[in-house]
Amino acid sequence: MQITGVGIVIAGLLPRMAFAARNSLKSMRTGVQPNGKTRLVIETANRPSYTLVYGENTLTVKLSNTHGDKSVNAKLASGTLVKSISQTQVGDSLNIVADLKKHVADIPKNQIMILEPNGDNDYRLVLDFVAGTSGTKATAKNENDNATKSATKKHIIVVDAGHGGKDPGCIGRGGTKEKTIVLSVARKLRNALQSAGFGVYLTRNDDTYLKLNERSAIGEKRRADLFLSIHANANPSRAMKGFSIYTLSEKASDEEAQKLADAENAADKIDVSGFESFSKDIRIALSSLQQHAVAEMSEEYANGCARAFNRAGIEQQPGPAVRHAPLAVLRSTVPGALIECGHLSNSAEEKLLKSSAHQDKLVAAIVKSVKNYDFEA
Ligand SMILES: [Zn+2]
Repeated sequence: MQITGVGIVIAGLLPRMAFAARNSLKSMRTGVQPNGKTRLVIETANRPSYTLVYGENTLTVKLSNTHGDKSVNAKLASGTLVKSISQTQVGDSLNIVADLKKHVADIPKNQIMILEPNGDNDYRLVLDFVAGTSGTKATAKNENDNATKSATKKHIIVVDAGHGGKDPGCIGRGGTKEKTIVLSVARKLRNALQSAGFGVYLTRNDDTYLKLNERSAIGEKRRADLFLSIHANANPSRAMKGFSIYTLSEKASDEEAQKLADAENAADKIDVSGFESFSKDIRIALSSLQQHAVAEMSEEYANGCARAFNRAGIEQQPGPAVRHAPLAVLRSTVPGALIECGHLSNSAEEKLLKSSAHQDKLVAAIVKSVKNYDFEA
Protein backbone atom coordinates (compact mmCIF):
# COMPACT_ATOMS: atom_id res chain seq x y z
CA MET A 1 0.00 0.00 0.00
CA GLN A 2 1.22 3.41 -0.90
CA ILE A 3 0.70 6.39 1.30
CA THR A 4 1.16 9.82 -0.13
CA GLY A 5 2.81 12.61 1.83
CA VAL A 6 -0.47 14.51 1.94
CA GLY A 7 -2.30 11.50 3.26
CA ILE A 8 0.11 11.15 6.15
CA VAL A 9 -0.27 14.78 7.12
CA ILE A 10 -4.05 14.58 7.19
CA ALA A 11 -4.11 11.28 9.03
CA GLY A 12 -1.71 12.64 11.61
CA LEU A 13 -3.44 15.95 12.09
CA LEU A 14 -7.14 15.22 12.25
CA PRO A 15 -7.35 12.94 15.27
CA ARG A 16 -5.11 15.23 17.27
CA MET A 17 -7.23 18.27 16.50
CA ALA A 18 -10.37 16.38 17.38
CA PHE A 19 -8.84 15.23 20.66
CA ALA A 20 -7.53 18.63 21.72
CA ALA A 21 -10.65 20.50 20.70
CA ARG A 22 -13.29 18.82 22.81
CA ASN A 23 -13.82 17.82 26.36
CA SER A 24 -16.03 14.85 27.18
CA LEU A 25 -18.31 13.84 30.01
CA LYS A 26 -17.14 10.90 32.14
CA SER A 27 -19.50 10.69 35.10
CA MET A 28 -21.96 12.63 37.26
CA ARG A 29 -22.88 12.06 40.88
CA THR A 30 -24.38 13.70 43.92
CA GLY A 31 -23.69 13.29 47.60
CA VAL A 32 -24.43 14.85 50.98
CA GLN A 33 -21.58 16.64 52.71
CA PRO A 34 -21.07 16.25 56.49
CA ASN A 35 -22.35 19.83 56.83
CA GLY A 36 -25.59 18.96 55.03
CA LYS A 37 -24.71 20.65 51.75
CA THR A 38 -25.53 18.93 48.49
CA ARG A 39 -22.44 18.08 46.48
CA LEU A 40 -22.64 17.74 42.70
CA VAL A 41 -19.61 16.23 40.98
CA ILE A 42 -19.16 16.33 37.20
CA GLU A 43 -16.18 14.39 35.91
CA THR A 44 -14.67 15.24 32.53
CA ALA A 45 -11.67 14.04 30.51
CA ASN A 46 -10.07 17.51 30.37
CA ARG A 47 -10.15 20.55 32.63
CA PRO A 48 -13.74 21.81 32.42
CA SER A 49 -14.69 25.34 31.43
CA TYR A 50 -18.13 26.10 32.82
CA THR A 51 -20.82 28.67 33.54
CA LEU A 52 -23.69 28.28 35.99
CA VAL A 53 -27.27 29.24 35.25
CA TYR A 54 -29.79 29.36 38.09
CA GLY A 55 -33.41 28.59 37.19
CA GLU A 56 -36.55 28.51 39.33
CA ASN A 57 -35.89 24.93 40.43
CA THR A 58 -32.95 24.01 38.26
CA LEU A 59 -29.23 24.46 38.25
CA THR A 60 -27.61 24.28 34.83
CA VAL A 61 -23.89 23.73 34.41
CA LYS A 62 -22.91 24.74 30.87
CA LEU A 63 -19.70 23.00 29.89
CA SER A 64 -18.21 24.72 26.88
CA ASN A 65 -16.65 22.70 24.10
CA THR A 66 -17.78 19.42 25.58
CA HIS A 67 -19.64 16.47 24.16
CA GLY A 68 -22.07 14.48 26.21
CA ASP A 69 -22.38 10.74 26.58
CA LYS A 70 -25.88 9.29 26.82
CA SER A 71 -24.47 6.14 28.44
CA VAL A 72 -23.40 8.23 31.42
CA ASN A 73 -26.16 8.07 34.01
CA ALA A 74 -25.95 10.20 37.11
CA LYS A 75 -25.50 8.37 40.40
CA LEU A 76 -27.86 10.14 42.77
CA ALA A 77 -27.49 9.90 46.52
CA SER A 78 -30.57 10.21 48.70
CA GLY A 79 -31.14 13.25 50.87
CA THR A 80 -29.73 15.83 48.42
CA LEU A 81 -31.49 18.77 46.77
CA VAL A 82 -31.13 17.11 43.36
CA LYS A 83 -34.10 15.12 41.98
CA SER A 84 -32.60 14.18 38.65
CA ILE A 85 -29.85 15.16 36.23
CA SER A 86 -30.07 15.30 32.45
CA GLN A 87 -27.67 16.26 29.68
CA THR A 88 -28.48 18.29 26.59
CA GLN A 89 -26.11 19.01 23.76
CA VAL A 90 -26.44 22.62 22.57
CA GLY A 91 -24.01 23.07 19.70
CA ASP A 92 -20.52 22.76 21.16
CA SER A 93 -21.74 23.08 24.72
CA LEU A 94 -23.06 20.40 26.99
CA ASN A 95 -25.73 21.50 29.43
CA ILE A 96 -25.94 19.44 32.60
CA VAL A 97 -29.32 20.27 34.11
CA ALA A 98 -29.98 19.36 37.73
CA ASP A 99 -33.67 19.29 38.61
CA LEU A 100 -33.98 20.50 42.18
CA LYS A 101 -36.37 19.93 45.06
CA LYS A 102 -35.86 23.54 46.13
CA HIS A 103 -34.43 26.70 44.69
CA VAL A 104 -30.69 26.93 45.15
CA ALA A 105 -28.86 30.04 46.35
CA ASP A 106 -26.08 31.38 44.13
CA ILE A 107 -23.04 29.27 44.89
CA PRO A 108 -20.14 31.30 46.30
CA LYS A 109 -16.75 30.92 44.61
CA ASN A 110 -15.22 29.11 47.53
CA GLN A 111 -17.83 26.33 47.22
CA ILE A 112 -16.77 25.51 43.66
CA MET A 113 -13.67 23.44 43.04
CA ILE A 114 -11.94 21.85 40.12
CA LEU A 115 -10.00 18.82 41.29
CA GLU A 116 -7.04 17.54 39.33
CA PRO A 117 -7.04 13.93 38.09
CA ASN A 118 -5.92 11.39 40.68
CA GLY A 119 -6.10 7.61 40.86
CA ASP A 120 -9.10 6.46 38.86
CA ASN A 121 -10.56 9.97 38.61
CA ASP A 122 -10.33 12.47 35.78
CA TYR A 123 -10.95 16.19 36.26
CA ARG A 124 -13.84 16.86 38.60
CA LEU A 125 -15.94 19.98 38.86
CA VAL A 126 -17.31 19.97 42.42
CA LEU A 127 -20.20 22.22 43.48
CA ASP A 128 -21.44 22.41 47.08
CA PHE A 129 -24.75 24.15 47.61
CA VAL A 130 -27.73 24.75 49.85
CA ALA A 131 -31.34 25.76 49.32
CA GLY A 132 -32.05 29.46 49.43
CA THR A 133 -33.01 32.61 47.62
CA SER A 134 -30.53 33.97 45.15
CA GLY A 135 -29.81 37.63 44.54
CA THR A 136 -30.50 37.14 40.83
CA LYS A 137 -33.97 35.80 41.47
CA ALA A 138 -34.81 38.69 43.77
CA THR A 139 -33.65 41.13 41.08
CA ALA A 140 -35.87 39.50 38.49
CA LYS A 141 -38.90 39.79 40.75
CA ASN A 142 -38.21 43.32 41.94
CA GLU A 143 -37.86 45.51 38.91
CA ASN A 144 -37.19 48.77 40.70
CA ASP A 145 -35.52 47.34 43.73
CA ASN A 146 -32.85 48.54 46.03
CA ALA A 147 -33.67 45.87 48.53
CA THR A 148 -32.23 42.83 46.77
CA LYS A 149 -29.45 42.53 49.34
CA SER A 150 -31.92 41.95 52.14
CA ALA A 151 -33.19 38.89 50.29
CA THR A 152 -29.83 37.15 50.52
CA LYS A 153 -29.05 34.62 53.22
CA LYS A 154 -27.77 35.43 56.68
CA HIS A 155 -24.00 35.31 56.61
CA ILE A 156 -22.13 33.45 59.31
CA ILE A 157 -19.06 34.90 60.99
CA VAL A 158 -16.89 32.92 63.38
CA VAL A 159 -15.00 35.19 65.77
CA ASP A 160 -11.95 33.61 67.35
CA ALA A 161 -10.48 35.18 70.48
CA GLY A 162 -6.83 34.12 70.36
CA HIS A 163 -5.11 32.08 73.11
CA GLY A 164 -6.90 31.35 76.42
CA GLY A 165 -6.51 29.11 79.45
CA LYS A 166 -2.92 27.97 79.95
CA ASP A 167 -1.85 30.09 76.97
CA PRO A 168 -1.95 33.80 77.95
CA GLY A 169 -0.64 35.03 74.58
CA CYS A 170 1.64 38.02 74.92
CA ILE A 171 1.78 40.00 78.12
CA GLY A 172 1.99 43.79 78.28
CA ARG A 173 4.48 45.76 80.33
CA GLY A 174 1.70 46.54 82.78
CA GLY A 175 0.76 42.86 83.01
CA THR A 176 -2.18 42.92 80.60
CA LYS A 177 -2.70 39.49 79.05
CA GLU A 178 -3.51 39.17 75.36
CA LYS A 179 -6.04 36.39 76.05
CA THR A 180 -8.11 38.76 78.25
CA ILE A 181 -8.11 41.73 75.86
CA VAL A 182 -8.99 39.68 72.79
CA LEU A 183 -11.84 37.87 74.56
CA SER A 184 -13.34 41.21 75.49
CA VAL A 185 -12.98 42.49 71.90
CA ALA A 186 -14.38 39.23 70.51
CA ARG A 187 -17.50 39.41 72.73
CA LYS A 188 -18.14 43.03 71.78
CA LEU A 189 -17.64 42.09 68.13
CA ARG A 190 -20.11 39.23 68.41
CA ASN A 191 -22.77 41.55 69.85
CA ALA A 192 -22.16 44.24 67.23
CA LEU A 193 -22.20 41.78 64.32
CA GLN A 194 -25.37 40.15 65.64
CA SER A 195 -27.03 43.57 65.81
CA ALA A 196 -25.94 44.14 62.21
CA GLY A 197 -27.83 40.97 61.19
CA PHE A 198 -25.01 38.44 60.97
CA GLY A 199 -25.02 34.98 62.48
CA VAL A 200 -22.05 34.87 64.85
CA TYR A 201 -20.26 32.12 66.74
CA LEU A 202 -17.34 32.52 69.13
CA THR A 203 -14.65 29.82 69.22
CA ARG A 204 -14.37 30.49 72.96
CA ASN A 205 -16.52 32.58 75.28
CA ASP A 206 -14.43 32.12 78.41
CA ASP A 207 -10.85 31.58 79.52
CA THR A 208 -10.45 28.21 77.79
CA TYR A 209 -7.51 26.80 75.90
CA LEU A 210 -8.29 25.60 72.38
CA LYS A 211 -5.89 24.12 69.87
CA LEU A 212 -5.44 26.07 66.66
CA ASN A 213 -6.98 23.37 64.47
CA GLU A 214 -9.95 23.13 66.86
CA ARG A 215 -10.55 26.82 66.20
CA SER A 216 -10.44 26.51 62.42
CA ALA A 217 -12.64 23.39 62.67
CA ILE A 218 -15.35 25.52 64.29
CA GLY A 219 -15.33 27.72 61.18
CA GLU A 220 -15.82 24.61 59.03
CA LYS A 221 -18.50 23.12 61.27
CA ARG A 222 -20.51 26.33 61.36
CA ARG A 223 -20.18 26.66 57.59
CA ALA A 224 -18.85 30.15 58.23
CA ASP A 225 -18.56 32.73 55.48
CA LEU A 226 -15.76 34.52 57.30
CA PHE A 227 -13.34 33.57 60.09
CA LEU A 228 -11.83 36.39 62.15
CA SER A 229 -9.08 35.63 64.65
CA ILE A 230 -8.53 38.47 67.12
CA HIS A 231 -5.08 39.04 68.62
CA ALA A 232 -2.79 41.66 70.11
CA ASN A 233 0.87 41.87 69.39
CA ALA A 234 4.19 42.25 71.19
CA ASN A 235 7.51 43.45 69.88
CA PRO A 236 11.02 43.52 71.40
CA SER A 237 11.02 47.21 70.53
CA ARG A 238 8.80 48.94 73.07
CA ALA A 239 8.33 51.82 70.67
CA MET A 240 6.60 49.61 68.11
CA LYS A 241 2.89 50.40 67.79
CA GLY A 242 -0.08 49.82 65.58
CA PHE A 243 -2.37 47.21 64.08
CA SER A 244 -1.61 44.76 61.28
CA ILE A 245 -3.76 42.22 59.49
CA TYR A 246 -2.64 38.80 58.36
CA THR A 247 -3.90 36.29 55.83
CA LEU A 248 -2.74 32.73 55.29
CA SER A 249 0.10 31.93 52.95
CA GLU A 250 2.61 29.11 52.73
CA LYS A 251 5.47 31.58 53.02
CA ALA A 252 5.70 34.65 55.21
CA SER A 253 5.60 37.94 53.30
CA ASP A 254 8.46 39.36 55.39
CA GLU A 255 10.56 38.68 58.47
CA GLU A 256 8.06 40.41 60.73
CA ALA A 257 5.29 38.14 59.41
CA GLN A 258 7.42 35.02 59.97
CA LYS A 259 8.16 36.02 63.56
CA LEU A 260 4.50 36.62 64.18
CA ALA A 261 3.54 33.24 62.71
CA ASP A 262 6.17 31.55 64.89
CA ALA A 263 4.77 33.27 67.97
CA GLU A 264 1.10 32.61 67.20
CA ASN A 265 1.69 29.02 66.09
CA ALA A 266 3.82 28.30 69.15
CA ALA A 267 0.68 27.84 71.23
CA ASP A 268 0.31 24.38 69.73
CA LYS A 269 3.93 23.71 68.86
CA ILE A 270 2.34 22.98 65.53
CA ASP A 271 4.31 22.11 62.45
CA VAL A 272 2.58 24.27 59.89
CA SER A 273 4.38 22.72 56.99
CA GLY A 274 2.52 19.45 57.64
CA PHE A 275 -1.05 18.88 56.54
CA GLU A 276 -1.34 15.64 58.50
CA SER A 277 -3.35 17.04 61.36
CA PHE A 278 -6.13 18.15 59.03
CA SER A 279 -9.02 15.95 58.04
CA LYS A 280 -8.89 14.37 54.62
CA ASP A 281 -11.76 16.51 53.30
CA ILE A 282 -9.98 19.70 54.22
CA ARG A 283 -6.71 18.46 52.77
CA ILE A 284 -8.42 17.69 49.47
CA ALA A 285 -10.07 21.09 49.44
CA LEU A 286 -6.84 22.84 50.33
CA SER A 287 -4.93 21.08 47.60
CA SER A 288 -7.38 22.23 44.97
CA LEU A 289 -8.20 25.46 43.27
CA GLN A 290 -10.46 26.25 46.18
CA GLN A 291 -7.36 27.20 48.12
CA HIS A 292 -6.75 29.89 45.57
CA ALA A 293 -10.30 31.21 45.81
CA VAL A 294 -10.16 31.25 49.62
CA ALA A 295 -6.84 33.12 49.51
CA GLU A 296 -8.26 35.71 47.13
CA MET A 297 -11.35 36.28 49.24
CA SER A 298 -9.26 36.51 52.42
CA GLU A 299 -6.99 39.07 50.79
CA GLU A 300 -9.99 41.10 49.71
CA TYR A 301 -11.42 41.04 53.22
CA ALA A 302 -8.06 41.91 54.85
CA ASN A 303 -7.53 44.91 52.57
CA GLY A 304 -11.03 46.16 53.36
CA CYS A 305 -10.41 45.68 57.07
CA ALA A 306 -7.15 47.64 56.89
CA ARG A 307 -8.98 50.46 55.09
CA ALA A 308 -11.66 50.52 57.80
CA PHE A 309 -8.97 50.71 60.52
CA ASN A 310 -7.19 53.53 58.67
CA ARG A 311 -10.45 55.45 58.25
CA ALA A 312 -11.24 55.05 61.94
CA GLY A 313 -7.87 56.60 62.74
CA ILE A 314 -6.48 53.46 64.38
CA GLU A 315 -2.70 53.56 64.26
CA GLN A 316 -1.11 51.20 61.74
CA GLN A 317 2.15 49.36 62.34
CA PRO A 318 4.84 50.72 59.99
CA GLY A 319 5.08 48.72 56.77
CA PRO A 320 2.27 47.03 54.86
CA ALA A 321 -1.13 46.94 56.59
CA VAL A 322 -1.79 43.44 55.27
CA ARG A 323 0.84 40.75 55.58
CA HIS A 324 0.88 37.03 54.89
CA ALA A 325 2.11 34.20 57.04
CA PRO A 326 1.70 30.44 57.52
CA LEU A 327 -0.78 30.81 60.39
CA ALA A 328 -2.20 27.48 61.51
CA VAL A 329 -5.45 28.97 62.79
CA LEU A 330 -6.34 30.25 59.30
CA ARG A 331 -5.86 26.89 57.61
CA SER A 332 -9.34 26.01 56.42
CA THR A 333 -11.77 26.37 53.56
CA VAL A 334 -13.27 29.49 55.16
CA PRO A 335 -11.91 32.86 54.03
CA GLY A 336 -10.57 34.87 56.93
CA ALA A 337 -7.94 36.98 58.56
CA LEU A 338 -5.98 37.30 61.78
CA ILE A 339 -6.27 40.81 63.17
CA GLU A 340 -3.47 42.05 65.40
CA CYS A 341 -5.30 44.93 67.07
CA GLY A 342 -2.19 46.64 68.42
CA HIS A 343 0.92 46.18 70.57
CA LEU A 344 0.67 45.28 74.25
CA SER A 345 4.44 45.75 74.45
CA ASN A 346 3.93 49.49 73.99
CA SER A 347 2.72 51.09 77.23
CA ALA A 348 0.53 53.70 75.54
CA GLU A 349 -1.11 51.13 73.32
CA GLU A 350 -1.50 48.68 76.20
CA LYS A 351 -3.57 51.34 77.97
CA LEU A 352 -5.62 51.92 74.82
CA LEU A 353 -6.26 48.21 74.27
CA LYS A 354 -7.52 47.89 77.84
CA SER A 355 -9.97 50.76 77.45
CA SER A 356 -13.54 49.90 76.58
CA ALA A 357 -13.82 52.96 74.32
CA HIS A 358 -10.86 51.88 72.20
CA GLN A 359 -12.17 48.32 72.02
CA ASP A 360 -15.48 49.74 70.76
CA LYS A 361 -13.58 51.69 68.10
CA LEU A 362 -11.81 48.53 66.93
CA VAL A 363 -15.11 46.64 66.87
CA ALA A 364 -16.89 49.37 64.90
CA ALA A 365 -14.12 49.30 62.27
CA ILE A 366 -14.27 45.49 61.99
CA VAL A 367 -18.08 45.57 61.66
CA LYS A 368 -17.74 48.11 58.82
CA SER A 369 -15.24 45.90 57.06
CA VAL A 370 -17.55 42.89 57.35
CA LYS A 371 -20.53 44.87 56.04
CA ASN A 372 -18.47 46.07 53.07
CA TYR A 373 -17.09 42.62 52.28
CA ASP A 374 -18.54 41.09 49.13
CA PHE A 375 -19.73 37.71 50.38
CA GLU A 376 -21.10 36.66 47.00
CA ALA A 377 -17.95 37.37 45.01
ZN1 LIG B 1 -1.87 36.22 69.64
